[in-house]
Amino acid sequence: MLEGKVALVTGAGRGIGREIALTLAQYGADVIVNYNGSKEKAEEVVSEIEKMGRKAAAVQCSVADYEACGKMITDMLAAFGHIDILVNNAGITKDNLVIKMTEEDFDAVIDTNLKGTFNTMKHMYRPFIKQKSGRIINLSSVSGVLGNAGQANYAASKAGVIGLTKSMARELASRNITVNAVAPGYIDTDMTQAMTDTAKEATLAQIPLKRVGRPKDVAETVAFLASDKASYITGQVISVDGGMAI
Ligand code: NDP
Repeated sequence: MLEGKVALVTGAGRGIGREIALTLAQYGADVIVNYNGSKEKAEEVVSEIEKMGRKAAAVQCSVADYEACGKMITDMLAAFGHIDILVNNAGITKDNLVIKMTEEDFDAVIDTNLKGTFNTMKHMYRPFIKQKSGRIINLSSVSGVLGNAGQANYAASKAGVIGLTKSMARELASRNITVNAVAPGYIDTDMTQAMTDTAKEATLAQIPLKRVGRPKDVAETVAFLASDKASYITGQVISVDGGMAI
């Protein structure tokens, strides 16, 4: 399904990003595995992908750093020849009620989740236009769709990702480039392991399908959006949340 394609997945050393990288490789893509702090985990993902007979590389870069994103993309275009699929998965939370939220925690979440998504898209803009093809898939969240008490910074960043996605979809549609967002609900990763038991139970109670999501649930949706099967879909937000946002 993705043979001959090269994908860049941010934050791909662990969690949902790791599963996206492995799934895209299973469907035939070569994968650039971006990480920030998880070097060894990213290298493990690379060796798993290489075992599948695909090409892969681990590359360190904080997506919040505009210049570093530019260098990563220039270096990887030189190494792989082209990048066809960009998955903006890297994300952080720094949850608190706004009354207790520091300015630093607000800025950090916006800088990584929203500005980080802008940074990679900005640096991929010209290469995608030159290729006259491309797929961008951005990770939003149910929190960005519905809002969430205790996550104002995160929800704002993820709602911002939806605005960026729809605007970029309009800018790039005439060049055969699609831009979509995936909005996961409650997925079992380190991010949600950090929640208190009370918060986990309260969230589970809001899921019509009555189960926590798996990284694979998200990864398969991303792979579909990256494929030719989704060539007529752009500017959409696909919820993968067990029905939370119905
Ligand atoms: P995890 O906390 O498990 O992993 C976060 C990932 O993001 C890590 O790979 C981490 O890399 C990377 N990352 C964080 N900051 C940066 C940075 N500055 N530059 C590059 N990479 C960075 O999160 P999940 O896997 O659960 O989440 C993945 C995405 O899905 C996020 O965007 C998240 O907001 C979104 N999401 C998750 C949900 C869930 O329930 N889990 C629900 C809705 C959305 P490293 O370890 O190398 O630092």
